[in-house]
Amino acid sequence: MSLKESILKPIAKLKGGAHIPHFKNTAEAESVVMDAPATVTIPLKQHIGAECVATVQKDDKVFVGTVIADSTAPLSAPIHSSVSGTVKEIKKISQPNGVVNSIVIESDGEMTPDPSLKPRKIKTAKQLVQACRECGLVGLGGAGFPVHIKLESLLKPEIDTLIINCAECEPYITSDYRECMENYDDILNGVYLLRDIFELKNVIIAIEGNKPKAIEKLYEVASDIQDEADNVKLMCLDTSYPQGAEKMLVYTTTGKKIPLGKLPADVGCAVMNITSISALYRFIRTGMPLVSKRVTVDGNAIAKPQNVIVPIGTSVQDIIDFCGGADENIEKIILGGPMMGSAIKDTETVIAKQSNAVLCFKNIKPIRTTPCIRCGRCAAACPMFLAPGAVEHSIDHNFTNLENLNVMSCIECGSCSYVCPAGRPLTAAMRTGKFELRRLQNAK
Ligand code: SF4
Ligand code: SF4
Repeated sequence: MSLKESILKPIAKLKGGAHIPHFKNTAEAESVVMDAPATVTIPLKQHIGAECVATVQKDDKVFVGTVIADSTAPLSAPIHSSVSGTVKEIKKISQPNGVVNSIVIESDGEMTPDPSLKPRKIKTAKQLVQACRECGLVGLGGAGFPVHIKLESLLKPEIDTLIINCAECEPYITSDYRECMENYDDILNGVYLLRDIFELKNVIIAIEGNKPKAIEKLYEVASDIQDEADNVKLMCLDTSYPQGAEKMLVYTTTGKKIPLGKLPADVGCAVMNITSISALYRFIRTGMPLVSKRVTVDGNAIAKPQNVIVPIGTSVQDIIDFCGGADENIEKIILGGPMMGSAIKDTETVIAKQSNAVLCFKNIKPIRTTPCIRCGRCAAACPMFLAPGAVEHSIDHNFTNLENLNVMSCIECGSCSYVCPAGRPLTAAMRTGKFELRRLQNAK
């Protein structure tokens, strides 16, 4: 069978979404490892659960991989030092996910690994779940959902499908793509470890069709000699935004719809980002937890666009300096992709586990906002079948009808704002709508 014939086609077609330019300018350049900056500032909340509590104090000596914070709360993951050096202070900092405590560590420049780190021997699924937690792994595609919780769901017999997300559908970002090109062995071994230890019936590696070199690499994974049972498949998705959003991916790869407020596990699936899989395998192979991150640095205001591997806690300013500096006319910096990332004002904002891009822009065409012309394009573009124009209207009229408008289903993908010819700030309206509906419901 030829490569083309062996690649699965999507089960269902993504509804709505937007055809946005890809701008994958950094795709073919090898990642560059940045030296440790003088200090790192490591946030204690880098996951969707409760903030971790520091387990170190001022003047403590730490190594690369030393646990510096943890929490017993569900949906959290331990945090490790990304440099060797000395704890200088614990202070509050402003991050895109709010004001959080952080640990400032002065690097000794040595990057000495913690002597207690050692490779793991994994024989059971429970050991793998535990190892994943000790790695501090959270969804590296942006959501920050602790990966050990996803792996725990694979212990249930009704979960039989693992979907590996390599869609990377946001413009500019190429960090998962570079992972495919640079860390093939960790991906290969990670995929088969997960399949075997959880006895998975189906593993689907899902990628958009606009990445032919990565498709070839992942096809080798799917057709490896270890796949005698032929249950690891590569699926090539249409190139459409937001193809990589979890709910969309489950739908296009399996045809299953995830109800509001439910998770992929509720329809028998688990979704893992491809870089999370190789990071987990690296931890098992070396014992080094998640302490660094590949970040795509791009945009028309950065001197040297590239993928940079940086210690977690490195400031955006240090990364910009490493990439040759930003143009003096820079107008906007986005942490993450242009569709779902967060615009930041302070370049002391730091890279967290879930950060995957720093985008710097100048000469931004101003958006002229005019009244809604009721063209319906926002509703047509919404992959969750919502009516963003109506939600904006509701917000302007005392928040009436928000519940019926199903506002909580919004995945904040930005497609509605992107297609609106009147430049309405619809995604911001959806966020406001969700916030207000939660407030109204809590007040009842
Ligand atoms: S796309 Fe913009 S102009 Fe068209 S209906 Fe929606 S809000 Fe109104
Ligand atoms: S309403 Fe929400 S889910 Fe729908 S297009 Fe807008 S941001 Fe995306």
